[in-house]
Amino acid sequence: MPEGKIVKALSGFYYVLSNDKLVQCRGRGVFRKNKITPLVGDEVVFQAENDTDGYILEIKERKNELVRPPIANVDQAILVFSAVEPNFSTALLDRFLVLIEYNRIRPLICITKMDLASETEKINIRNFAADYKKAGYDVLLTSSETEEGINELFPYIKGEISVFAGQSGVGKSSLLNVLRPDLSLKTNDISNHLGRGRHTTRHVELIHIGEGLVADTPGFSSLEFSEIEPEDLNFCFPEIQQLSEECKFRGCLHISEPKCAVKSAYDNGELPGYRYEHYLEFLDEIKNRKPRY
Ligand code: GDP
Ligand code: ZN
Repeated sequence: MPEGKIVKALSGFYYVLSNDKLVQCRGRGVFRKNKITPLVGDEVVFQAENDTDGYILEIKERKNELVRPPIANVDQAILVFSAVEPNFSTALLDRFLVLIEYNRIRPLICITKMDLASETEKINIRNFAADYKKAGYDVLLTSSETEEGINELFPYIKGEISVFAGQSGVGKSSLLNVLRPDLSLKTNDISNHLGRGRHTTRHVELIHIGEGLVADTPGFSSLEFSEIEPEDLNFCFPEIQQLSEECKFRGCLHISEPKCAVKSAYDNGELPGYRYEHYLEFLDEIKNRKPRY
C-alpha cells in the first residue's frame, strides 16, 4: 500500500504527498467511528483508486499534535522575534520557548528586522543571542529587507515540518515571502493568510520551502500555561534542567531549597538573571492558576 504525508485538508479531502505526487484522498468511515480526524502532517497509508484519487486507510502514530493550527508531527517551531518594531522581549521569548519545549518541538530562534536596529540595539541583540546559544538554542539574525541570514534558514527547514510562531507584526509573512517569493503573501495582514482570522474555518496547508515543509498558519497563538504543571517547568528551560542535576533534592523547584545548583548559578552570574526570573514568574503563574472546573 502506498504511504504519504497529508499536506492539506479542505472540504473533506486530504491531499497526500506521496513520491512527489499529490493524491486527493477521502477519509474512511472508520476514522469517524473512532473519532480520529486525519490531520495535516499525518503520515498515512492509503489506497490509490487511480493516479490522482484515493482513500486513507491508516494514520500512523503521531509524534505530537497542535490544536491551533491543527497539525501533527511538527518537528520545529521557527520562533520569530523582531529586533525592533516591536522591540525584542526576553519575557515573551521565554514564554514561547516554554510552550514549544512543553510540546516537545525543537525551537529555532529567528530574530528579524536587523536592518532597522541601531548599532546599540544590534549589540544588545547579539548579547541576548549569545545567552540563548549558551542555553542550547540556535539563533539566527535576519532581515527580510536586506535578506541577511535568510540562506541560513534553509538547512534548518530541510526534511522537516516547521511551524512559524511569534506575535503579530514581527515579520513572519515577510519571511515566508523572501523564502517563497512566488507565493506573494500579503504582509502586515496576519488575518489574511498567516492566521486567517479567528472567525473563519481554520485551514492549514504545508508549503514547500527549499527541501522542507512549513505550515502557512502560525502556531502557539495561546500563550497560557494551562496544561503545564510546576514540575514540568524545569524541562522547558534546558540550561536550568541541566543545572538541576546538581541540586541536592530531587524535584527541587529552585525557589529557596538548600543546595540548589540553579540558585547558585544565578547568584554567581552563570545563569542570566532574566532567565531565572522568568522561570520564577512562570512558576508562580502556574501555581496560582485557578482550577479549570
Ligand atoms: P507578521 O504579522 O508577523 O506576519 O509580520 P509582517 O511580515 O506582516 O511584517 C510586519 C511589518 O514589518 C510589515 O510592514 C513588514 O514590511 C515589516 N517587516 C517585516 N520584516 C522586516 C524586516 O526584516 N525589515 C524591515 N525593515 N521591515 C520588515
Ligand atoms: Zn534547585
